Amino acid sequence: QARDPHQPEFMQAVGEVMSSLWPFLKENPRYAQMGLLQRLVEPERLVQFRVSWVDDAGQVQVNRAFRIQHSSAIGPFKGGMRFHPSVNLSILKFLAFEQTFKNALTTLPMGGGKGGSDFDPKGKSDGEVMRFCQALMIELFRHLGPDTDVPAGDIGVGAREVGFMAGMMKKLSNSAASVFTGKGISFGGSLIRPEATGYGTVYFAEEMLKHAKLSLDGLKVSVSGSGNVAQYAIEKCMQMGAQVVTVSDSHGCVIDPEGFTPEKLAILMDIKNNRRERVETYARELNLRFDAGKRPWHVPVDVALPCATQNELDLDDAKTLIANGVRCVAEGANMPTQMDAAEAFIHAGVLYAPGKASNAGGVAVSGLEMSQNALRLSWSRDEVDARLRHIMRDIHENCVRYGTRPEGVNYLDGANIAGFVKVADAMLHQGVY
Ligand code: NDP
Repeated sequence: QARDPHQPEFMQAVGEVMSSLWPFLKENPRYAQMGLLQRLVEPERLVQFRVSWVDDAGQVQVNRAFRIQHSSAIGPFKGGMRFHPSVNLSILKFLAFEQTFKNALTTLPMGGGKGGSDFDPKGKSDGEVMRFCQALMIELFRHLGPDTDVPAGDIGVGAREVGFMAGMMKKLSNSAASVFTGKGISFGGSLIRPEATGYGTVYFAEEMLKHAKLSLDGLKVSVSGSGNVAQYAIEKCMQMGAQVVTVSDSHGCVIDPEGFTPEKLAILMDIKNNRRERVETYARELNLRFDAGKRPWHVPVDVALPCATQNELDLDDAKTLIANGVRCVAEGANMPTQMDAAEAFIHAGVLYAPGKASNAGGVAVSGLEMSQNALRLSWSRDEVDARLRHIMRDIHENCVRYGTRPEGVNYLDGANIAGFVKVADAMLHQGVY
């Protein structure tokens, strides 16, 4: 804490992992040697740089950008880029730290990293977004490479932004590798990558329910957010027979007691992805209730899928969800549930999955995109989806292996310990560096 006094999100993420690890380390002291924990909480390298670009009005704009190369113990640094005004060192360090364990859980050879900028793509023209992405790459390209650091998308970084960055990467590196994952299908992207995080979260929720002799079929679900992860979580829930009754953004939430249909989801996707408007527009056009400034956790449901951003579900929200009979909470976003809220779920016997387990499907399919690029071939939709499902099943099994307690499976402990063991073993074998 004394070394990083202004990094609350990073402290929160480290604290959460350490609280799972202490009892495990007592029983397995070999993991407390060689400065392992001290090394694990210190990124291998981080870069911060200025991005200067010219807007449509001819004005010079200056943004701040970062890349956190947290751990390469089990493979190249790997993790998304986030463009949002809230981006700072603390948020990116927490995300890179989490990413290291998440990537380990996928069983694919990927280290952990994260990056981003305080640039806000909202309200910018395509030309402005392109010029910003290109200006950012003028610095970032020298830190990337297929065996060094492989970025992808995150909040505010979708197919458009990845395309602009990958294009500039190609130009500056004189290599067609493009390095990014989440690329367009026409230049090396993988089928199912856009769907992967949302689908994977729902596959994981289904595994948890199955383990508890339940099923998603017929259950009522609340989803927060309305971006990439939320949209495909909604789609997969519908395919599995669940009824999704909420969607939200940073301005408020929409409540739809009848539930989503494929037609409604297509309208939401058009509003968010093409027209780039808010969910309030969606509520207005479909004549649905819009609760301004609210999050969706007051709506009674069986399953809650937080898919927006960090710390969006607090202790009061958890108490409300528990009082309303929620049975399962699976995180599509990174660290959306505050620590005391997560503890309340676990204490109440709710099946609670931390993002590093339940949202690992996105990076898993990014890993599959890297494999396809290296092999110079493309797998079919069904093949990638089957591999994604398999990986989510494996992650679930690993959580059960390390998280089974007399009172049930503690998925938080299970994910933290399983991810840690993989990274720690790799670090111990490679000596101190
Ligand atoms: P998008 O940019 O596509 O969507 C983000 C959504 O979250 C939007 O609905 C946005 O609303 C909302 N949101 C963002 N910031 C806030 C805020 N401060 N308060 C309330 N709502 C907010 O991002 P993704 O769907 O890709 O990412 C969502 C989450 O999932 C993030 O935590 C991300 O780290 C995580 N994740 C994403 C992966 C991926 O493959 N994309 C992989 C694994 C995790 P608004 O439009 O109003 O800002």
